[in-house]
Amino acid sequence: KTFKDYALSDEIVRALESLAYETPTEVQREVIPVALEKKDLVVKSQTGSGKTAAYGIPLCELVDWNENKPQALILTPTRELAVQVNEDITNIGRFKRIKATAVYGKHPFHIQKAELKQRTHIVVGTPGRVLDHIEKGTLALQRIQFVVIDEADEMLNMGFIEQVQAIIQQLPSERVTMLFSATFPEDVANLSRKYMDEPVHIEI
Ligand code: AMP
Repeated sequence: KTFKDYALSDEIVRALESLAYETPTEVQREVIPVALEKKDLVVKSQTGSGKTAAYGIPLCELVDWNENKPQALILTPTRELAVQVNEDITNIGRFKRIKATAVYGKHPFHIQKAELKQRTHIVVGTPGRVLDHIEKGTLALQRIQFVVIDEADEMLNMGFIEQVQAIIQQLPSERVTMLFSATFPEDVANLSRKYMDEPVHIEI
């Protein structure tokens, strides 16, 4: 299998070539075709498996470049991961000119606010700061069609699960939800039962 075997546009395939991603990793082989069909997904996978691109590639493919409001929201447990995911998405979406914006704590709110005022296709952030932006009206949710909960077990460990739920409850109900986690304690399993619609389960 190569990335050309999927229903991906030239812009995305070219970006993967420029990143020297030649063959999809196992999690990418499992996730990409299902995500491209806009099905909810629950994925058990470790960091280092290529999980970021597993959801990043279909998100970059599916977002509409012409839409001004954000279409995808990726929640991460840490600032470091938010920055890394933002960078990966920016690289994958480079030739489609996808704009991703990272929002996380301990970084000036007004800078993020200004960035969110520009066209942004994909927002990556930590739950507390994402909620801040929602409450202050600086992050529009009306056009969100995709949400990714990355490292869900870490969200739980860090005490963010209630914030994650508060965010999801405000999203349009017509959406695709993807959850990635290395382990599945009860609270993570509950999240998927509560907020996902007959998800496809993938275990790597
Ligand atoms: P992740 O599990 O998302 O943190 O990715 C782990 C590392 O693998 C990152 O440095 C990615 O840039 C890299 N990577 C992801 N997908 C591929 C691929 N298909 N081929 C080569 N490297 C990849």
